Amino acid sequence: MARSDTTQPCSPEAISRFVYSQIILIHYHEVGLKGRNRTRFERQLQQNIQTALDDLGSLRVSRISGRLLIEENSDLSSDMESIATIVSAIPGVVRVSRGVCVSRDLDIINDAALSILKQSEPFVSFKVAARRANTEYPLDSMQLNQIVGAYLSLNLPNKIVRMTNPDVKLHLEIIENRAFIYAHTIKGIGGLPVGSSGTVVCLLSAGLDSPVAAWRMMRRGATVLGLHFSGRPQTSADSEHLVQQIAQVLKPIAGLKSLYVVAFGEYQRLIAATVPTSLRILFYRRLMFSVANRLAAVQGARALVTGESLGQVASQTLENIQVIDAVAEYPVLRPLIGSDKQEIITEAQRLGTYEISIQIHQDCCTLFMPRNPETHARLSIVESIWNQLPINEWLDTIMADIEELDLD
Ligand code: ATP
Ligand code: MG
Repeated sequence: MARSDTTQPCSPEAISRFVYSQIILIHYHEVGLKGRNRTRFERQLQQNIQTALDDLGSLRVSRISGRLLIEENSDLSSDMESIATIVSAIPGVVRVSRGVCVSRDLDIINDAALSILKQSEPFVSFKVAARRANTEYPLDSMQLNQIVGAYLSLNLPNKIVRMTNPDVKLHLEIIENRAFIYAHTIKGIGGLPVGSSGTVVCLLSAGLDSPVAAWRMMRRGATVLGLHFSGRPQTSADSEHLVQQIAQVLKPIAGLKSLYVVAFGEYQRLIAATVPTSLRILFYRRLMFSVANRLAAVQGARALVTGESLGQVASQTLENIQVIDAVAEYPVLRPLIGSDKQEIITEAQRLGTYEISIQIHQDCCTLFMPRNPETHARLSIVESIWNQLPINEWLDTIMADIEELDLD
């Protein structure tokens, strides 16, 4: 389609005539490197992004030449910028580019490229980076760089072409019978698509750490089942409401599959009544892990996850970790074990869980809290007391009473 002489290049009319659609191209890297698993990983990523978009109208995600593509829906006005932001937070996404898709006609490509470049102001230097996925196209990438670059220079005489470190890189990709043009790219979160690494049970409190731990596991492709222990009936259900809010934050990532809640207060009371005060926390944790074992077995999970960080609190010394781990029937993954609190806080702020976690609430762990918790517990002593408790009976009742919260 040639531009009519009376139409200014890049006037709104001109753009609407040559632009087929606004698009978002999603780049993945680690996913693409997975050899024979590649298709499975790509499909998983595509499905996760589609799930995240389903709440935003009828946008479709398709696969195209080592990328995923979202095209604007002509019936709906979509805010492509916020969609790109949402997509960038989905594990497995390395970069998200926003631009247009036009036909392969060179005049149209030139005009679209000019329009996209003009939207990148302010800038001084630019370069064209062409890629030709369809080798039947008569021009190769070098020729495209030269022709489109010359057109842009002619129309933007104040701008400089710079091959290294240009302010703006204008990408032009010929894929099948279309040309994709973009200059605006944001960084994605990286990692692997949720669902590609199996399922884990994450002990999820409303505190700062465990939501970040859950998120890190999601970023490595794990599907997370959240397991929360509430101090109910000895405390209010405040912590449950907060965990539900945390679940809402994690939901667009498509990683939190379900959220289970155990009313734990009564078991804590029973432990407090029989166990030496300084060991209470360790018994709470061991019982939590035992519940997590059962849930993992029922749900086919392969690991337990906590938000523990070495030495952060009394229960997180190496000795106490060993005492707690002794009941675990699955590998216990602690993605924050080597992180400082400040790093965790920064990550919680970026993730959006920080404001929820700092709300004051009654946590089951503060219930019957000893003043001087043991920091170097002996496993043999803990086990001799543990073996006198009706743990299996408790677990049967806990599993019969466990509640699954509605994530919607
Ligand atoms: P967080 O901020 O994640 O609550 P924390 O620094 O408060 O961690 P602890 O209270 O010792 O540390 O808890 C250690 C880990 O035990 C938590 O990261 C979490 O995985 C698990 N945990 C603690 N309390 C609960 C709870 N009420 N429900 C579920 N898991 C919990
Ligand atoms: Mg806590």
